[in-house]
Amino acid sequence: MNRPDFYKTLGVSRGASLEDIRKSYRKLARKYHPDVNPGDRAAEERFKKISEAYEILSDPKKREVYDAYGAYSENFRPRPGAGAGFDFSGFDFSDLGSSGFSDFFSRMFQGGPEPVRPQGRDLEYQISMSFDDALKGLRTRIAYDRMEVCRSCRGSGQESAARAGTCSLCRGTGKLDQMRGHARLTTNCHRCGGTGRNSRQCASCNGQGRASSPSRLEVRIPAGVQNGSRIRFSGKGEAGLGGAPSGDLYVVAKVTPHPFFERKGDNIYCRVPVTVTEAALGAKIQVPTVDGRSLLKIPPGTQGGQKFRLRGKGAPSLRAARRGDQFVEVRVVVPKIADERSKELLRELAQLNPADPRTGLAQY
Ligand SMILES: [Zn+2]
Ligand SMILES: [Zn+2]
Repeated sequence: MNRPDFYKTLGVSRGASLEDIRKSYRKLARKYHPDVNPGDRAAEERFKKISEAYEILSDPKKREVYDAYGAYSENFRPRPGAGAGFDFSGFDFSDLGSSGFSDFFSRMFQGGPEPVRPQGRDLEYQISMSFDDALKGLRTRIAYDRMEVCRSCRGSGQESAARAGTCSLCRGTGKLDQMRGHARLTTNCHRCGGTGRNSRQCASCNGQGRASSPSRLEVRIPAGVQNGSRIRFSGKGEAGLGGAPSGDLYVVAKVTPHPFFERKGDNIYCRVPVTVTEAALGAKIQVPTVDGRSLLKIPPGTQGGQKFRLRGKGAPSLRAARRGDQFVEVRVVVPKIADERSKELLRELAQLNPADPRTGLAQY
């Protein structure tokens, strides 16, 4: 494990003032916050690192320890009443256990294994939403099951002693008498393990300390999410064991495709039919956008397949305060001519415009 350089992480110098540190943190946090980068694992990692660095450098006492030792641990904290100056006598090493002082420092500097805590698992919840909801954002309540700390035993997995009854097999003695031939043998009761009490395992959670429980959460889905975007809700996953932190909940957006609009990134694509006359002479046509109808001007001589841009009519960007664009592909619809008069006009048109559109193919 490499020890991170918190100053580098926050992009400040070693001598930076608290104000500078705060400013830099706010700027970076805004940029990498999971709410603005749903589904972006790299940004999420970055955000965690920034937060960790800020937590240490924004606290003068923690910063002092970090500056002196190049690392900081919660286990390494001043006793209440200790002076502000850095002094070993002022620190409480009691929760380092028997491994003690030197082991702690060698771990801290060489990076030994972190103590394993059974952190709660992350959960995933798929939320279906319309194309419009994805563009506008959504606030909704979701219900899901998650492992929570058992309320009956408060996570201990044990039934309280008061509620445990007397073992029915040994009648509370904890001992069982057995006859082997003529010999009388006294053994510990196998049902209660010799305690004389019933199994003290919590019945609600089967001794797990956690139980599956229905959970409700109000979620805000930011405007501009796409199919597959993941939005993290910190600590809303499964409860950890023995007071370990909970996992996170990832809400995954499942966006129903739109029959007319197609979304790619922050841009929206669609195809709009125009008549031969409109394409040839130019026209102003009404085009559906996610905000309602918009007027699109197509120039004279527009060809089928040509694309036009409606600026700012795309999806809101999750990364910046701007919207993508809408691209309108023109499809020229050729009329089915049945009457003689129209045929005549078209032949006349051909005579007036004898240019061969296939001259470019002569070389093949
Ligand atoms: Zn329980
Ligand atoms: Zn017993």
